[in-house]
Amino acid sequence: MTDSVYDEIGVPTVINATGTKTRIGGSRIRPEAAEAMREAAAGFARISDLQTRASELIQDVTGAEAGYVCSGASACLTLSAAATIAGTDLDAMAHLPETNGLADEIVIPRTHRTGYDHAYRVAGATIVDVGTNDAHLGTGAVNTEPWEIERAITDETAAVGYVQKSYTTPPLEDVVDVAHEHDVPVIVDAAAEVPPVDNFERFVDAGADLVAFSGGKAIRGPQTTGILAGRADLVRSVAAQHLDMHAAEAVWTPPAELIDVDELGGVPRQGIGRGMKVGKEELVGVITALESFLEEDHDANASAWRGRAETIAADLAELAGIETTLTAAEKTSVAPEVVVSVDESIADATATDAVRGLREERPRIYVGADDLHRNAFTINPMCLTDNEATYVLERIRSYF
Ligand SMILES: *Cc1c(COP(=O)(O)O)cnc(C)c1O
Repeated sequence: MTDSVYDEIGVPTVINATGTKTRIGGSRIRPEAAEAMREAAAGFARISDLQTRASELIQDVTGAEAGYVCSGASACLTLSAAATIAGTDLDAMAHLPETNGLADEIVIPRTHRTGYDHAYRVAGATIVDVGTNDAHLGTGAVNTEPWEIERAITDETAAVGYVQKSYTTPPLEDVVDVAHEHDVPVIVDAAAEVPPVDNFERFVDAGADLVAFSGGKAIRGPQTTGILAGRADLVRSVAAQHLDMHAAEAVWTPPAELIDVDELGGVPRQGIGRGMKVGKEELVGVITALESFLEEDHDANASAWRGRAETIAADLAELAGIETTLTAAEKTSVAPEVVVSVDESIADATATDAVRGLREERPRIYVGADDLHRNAFTINPMCLTDNEATYVLERIRSYF
């Protein structure tokens, strides 16, 4: 099926029918971004100058005061926590993740808790979980209430954490109101929320202080990039805790937009973010990818994904014991997904057997496995070419 560099080095290629998943390489980097990275690799530039250039672009795109590129949305969250805890305090920066004497709590509604909470704790934050899951009990409770968040805010609070999805509540505006009344910043995890392109501005407009987007999902930049947009003072703290700081003070002249030498009063030590570095290639790659993403015809993409999903759904529905439905594009993914439900009393295989078998093939085929408990698997059209989609259908048919 393929003859790629992965085959050349003896690593099985994956055909990606599950969307932009980091564990199988995220998305296809845009060719122009890959080419820009190749050119960046041939020369040198000051990383802080590249970050300043990225910041200008992120300001234009999001309307935020400043921007920064981290090594993924997850790293954006770690550095956001570090910024809200340490601010401009050099000594605090030097001590993270130890937070003795510092306000280090990040208040998160229980319904917003995810595995990515760990990214905050890396910087030394303590998660304060508020609310219940009562909405599922039919008690009349809708979700975490803004007053529950308000009550959890104390002198120990560094920030409120919010995960943006189409279904998350309370609305971001209400959470921002409560947090800002107490002068507490709100960090928004919006890793997978573009497209639509409008979302770049939406969360900033809603008052979020820092917003994290993944550079390696639909933006199709390098996998190891995340785009952070937000308040200039917080972004300066991020820069101070992320950039390489092996600097001789007498000749230390970082870009004023990113590092305010007077505000800091000294050269920060290698910060909590130093291990999450972003190279010149990634910076050039994500800037190029972001510019292309903005010019892309997103309606055309959406209708191509929908068309492919409909074709796949119709094809597989012909099989005995298989039913297919399409999910709404905005629920969990920017593209509609095909849910393939297997009636195990009729079909020739179980959903689990098919998913496991497909993964063991050469090339490996990855379909979505999050619905296996309902005897179903999913197919996401985003990362498939037409040829790959045909091949995936042929292989799935071989199990049923
Ligand atoms: C993908 C994702 C992340 C992590 O993004 P990376 O760029 O891979 O670090 C964090 N939060 C959510 C909700 C995500 O979907």
